Amino acid sequence: MARPAAQKPGQPGALTPRRPPRALPRLLPRAALAALLASAPAAALPARSRAAPPAPDPEARALVLADIHLDPFESPALARSLDAAPARRWEAILNRDARRAPSGPGADTDWALWRSALDALPRRRVAYVLLLGDYLCHGFGARYDRMVGGGAAARREFALKEIGVLKRSLEERLPGVPLYWVLGNEDSPDGDYAVRAGGIFLGRLAGLWLPPGDPTARRSFARWGCASRALPGRAGTLVSLDDVLWAQERRGPGDGSGAAEMAWLKRRLARREAGPLLLALHIPPGRDPYAAAHGRPAGFLRPRFERALEALLGAHPGRVRLVLAGHTHFDDFRLVRGPRGAVAAHLALSLSPVHGNAPGFSELDYRVADGTPLDWRTYTLDRGSPGRSNRWGLEYDFHRTYGTAFDPAGIAAAVSAIEAGGKARASYDRLYAGGAFTLSGPQERAQIRALEVHGPAPKSPALDPAPAH
Ligand SMILES: [Zn+2]
Repeated sequence: MARPAAQKPGQPGALTPRRPPRALPRLLPRAALAALLASAPAAALPARSRAAPPAPDPEARALVLADIHLDPFESPALARSLDAAPARRWEAILNRDARRAPSGPGADTDWALWRSALDALPRRRVAYVLLLGDYLCHGFGARYDRMVGGGAAARREFALKEIGVLKRSLEERLPGVPLYWVLGNEDSPDGDYAVRAGGIFLGRLAGLWLPPGDPTARRSFARWGCASRALPGRAGTLVSLDDVLWAQERRGPGDGSGAAEMAWLKRRLARREAGPLLLALHIPPGRDPYAAAHGRPAGFLRPRFERALEALLGAHPGRVRLVLAGHTHFDDFRLVRGPRGAVAAHLALSLSPVHGNAPGFSELDYRVADGTPLDWRTYTLDRGSPGRSNRWGLEYDFHRTYGTAFDPAGIAAAVSAIEAGGKARASYDRLYAGGAFTLSGPQERAQIRALEVHGPAPKSPALDPAPAH
């Protein structure tokens, strides 16, 4: 997303050099610790623990990162040296030449912020990492052309190297942990919302992001940016969509790819398999509260695709266990109500602080036995006062904050409580930007109105394949 919703006056510049946070002891949640102890060899535990009954329902977790927006354009000299170097040299160049202080409100993620987040990521019992799109910084194409130049092919290579360095650094920090990727509106070397279905860039990303042993996923991704992949163990299936193809802000003539992707999703949801199905997309369904508060058309997606997506979700309330999205950069919810039930969507706080939010990442806890989502925690970077080190810490735990499990019924209950006002509303307002500012006034009212999405009746004509536009 390319526009600020609300900004707190920035105060970066006086930060001390980053010191690696004592991440694990602070970040390891009690439930995961219990599961860890339960799964440890008995001989390693004191006699007292050996006698204790095993903890029921061991949990695993997924790490969720949204809207990283890594900015490699700190200076023209740095951008040019990155351009001349192969991807494997980027980390060394950035470690040597980039700024030392994590970027602050109003700026995208600089190298120092990315490294700080990497150091803070929990490493134990992480089953997979879900990345919800927008890896490139705002203004990527124009800044590349101004600082480096060289045309469309060179710009594409630079974008691929930038996304490759994110992948490489995650793989180094979390060896063997699979990564699941979603494409965002900024993830195109040719401009915002400009990625071309079936183009060279998508084909190259398919090779970078998807395992070679899954040609079906690689094929659908190269065509439309979508893929269906098994999650580790019994965690179920992740269906990732490129809903940039459906976005209101996508410019230019249609090429039929949006309708083709929707038809793919319809076929995919009609197929049954064991375990829960998670849907990940960059742009959330429902209203765009920022646009609504400014008197503009209120949907993120084109009406035709919005209706089709709502109808599909409404038709499969039990099939789609959870929807995860990014794009707004704020911690938020959408409850898509259909005639047969509701599907809950959670919008993850972004790592980029460009919209004035605190930089954040999150954890999704789920039950190992059957993949049932259990809880959600968000961690944010607390800059502290000038002269103090930056520290990552727990911003909130969904279960403790809203008093319900992080499942569709629990999220629906939390949304009702937020709408009703009181303590839940106060928490939502405070946590929306990771504690950087509190929602209030017309923006708060627009957000509250956007929490629920009422889908169409089941037999929507929007589900029929339609010609390109
Ligand atoms: Zn974004």
